[in-house]
Amino acid sequence: MSFSLHDSALGRQVDLVPLVTGKISVYCCGLTVQAAPHLGHIRKEVVFDVLRRWLTFSGLEVTLVVNVTDIDDKILAKAAAEGRPWFAHAYFYERQLHRATAALGCLPPTYEPRATGHIPEQLELVQELIARGHAYPAADHSGDVYFDVRSWPGYGQLSHQRIADMEPALDADPRGKRDPHDFALWKAAKPDDPATASWASPWGRGRPGWHLECSAMAGKYLGDAFDLHGGGLDLKFPHHENERAQSQAAGRPFAHPWMHNAFVTDPSGEKMSKSLANGMLVSEVVRRFDPRAVRYYLVAPHYRSMVEFSDQAVATAAAGLARLDAFVDRASARLGAVRPWTMGEAPAPQALPAGFARAMDDDLGAPAAIAQLHDSARAGNRALDAGDDPTALTALVQVQNMLSVLGLWKLDPAWPAAGGDLEPVVDGLVSALLEQRQAARARRDFAAADQLRDRLTALGLTIEDAPDGPRWKR
Ligand SMILES: [Zn+2]
Repeated sequence: MSFSLHDSALGRQVDLVPLVTGKISVYCCGLTVQAAPHLGHIRKEVVFDVLRRWLTFSGLEVTLVVNVTDIDDKILAKAAAEGRPWFAHAYFYERQLHRATAALGCLPPTYEPRATGHIPEQLELVQELIARGHAYPAADHSGDVYFDVRSWPGYGQLSHQRIADMEPALDADPRGKRDPHDFALWKAAKPDDPATASWASPWGRGRPGWHLECSAMAGKYLGDAFDLHGGGLDLKFPHHENERAQSQAAGRPFAHPWMHNAFVTDPSGEKMSKSLANGMLVSEVVRRFDPRAVRYYLVAPHYRSMVEFSDQAVATAAAGLARLDAFVDRASARLGAVRPWTMGEAPAPQALPAGFARAMDDDLGAPAAIAQLHDSARAGNRALDAGDDPTALTALVQVQNMLSVLGLWKLDPAWPAAGGDLEPVVDGLVSALLEQRQAARARRDFAAADQLRDRLTALGLTIEDAPDGPRWKR
């Protein structure tokens, strides 16, 4: 275990040292399920899926918690506009989120708690903060409760800002606040809020503030201290600054280091906005492109680099992935199919080139890792040209392992369309039938050969007779 990463709280690279030997606990802020996910949202899911795969390959037992924020102002407003309950709106988009992450080959998190399922834990945290003198009910008796930023000396350390230089918290009417930067822990129900959108509390009916949810759920599932906290760069302030302040002011060490991924931008270089995002909805992009190519496009740049979106950029990524696939197909045809490492298995020694492991251990250095992947595929192709089967086989094993670590192996069980682990079995069965058909033709029993072909065609398979034998595809 020699993984290091850029800690965005300290602004420098640090070694990831597990709190408990052999285990890593990660909290990654999830999405507010108020609209269909686009590539900008899903990049985070892909980055943390790769992190989890790499740490697992490195021999660690990884617990990944990703929350679902299923209530907030936007959800309430949109649900009201649509005339359906807020929980129906939230659940609709939660399922879309699951479809989008599955479509891009992300494994489900270890736990995926919903904010509204953890109201008691959040109320306890608010009461703890009031008892410690770091929170107060609003002076105007609105029923809101605020975090007192001036009471916590560490406030601003994560985002490296002085309170005076920060944007005021715009989450509630500032009248009841001691300082405009104080943020809402608990928000009193408004007269026009649906009755189902508030819960009883010592300060009257209301609902939790967004930041509070994550502190409470991280504490519940990962404990007072855990190894790594992540999310999109846009969450660093105020969300993560506030999470950290709440948890630490309540006497919980919380997490370090902090890992933030950059955005997907539109070609003008701006953070993707809602209006620009329609063409980048995951459901749309995976209709235009092979989902593996979309994942490759998201995986290949460094996670801290902005990624510019265009169909051309995804097409270029698709061409890169096709070169790797071509080597795997060619080598498998000659040497036999090789099953790579997958999640849950112990890594085999020498299963990866040192250059790939070095790159991944250095802050998930995807560009250098991908360069190694292509180097290995080129070396494998040269070995095939030269008839050096042992060298080609090593390359085949390593290329497929690298693809698997990045979640890009064609038959990874995370791909919904791949049929998971059944695909090699299907391939073996179809190949056996094709061999029978070849044998029938060899003995000039064309009726039997045609019958076998017709049965395969009826199952939706296309059979091509190539010079080196028949091939099939769906
Ligand atoms: Zn969060």
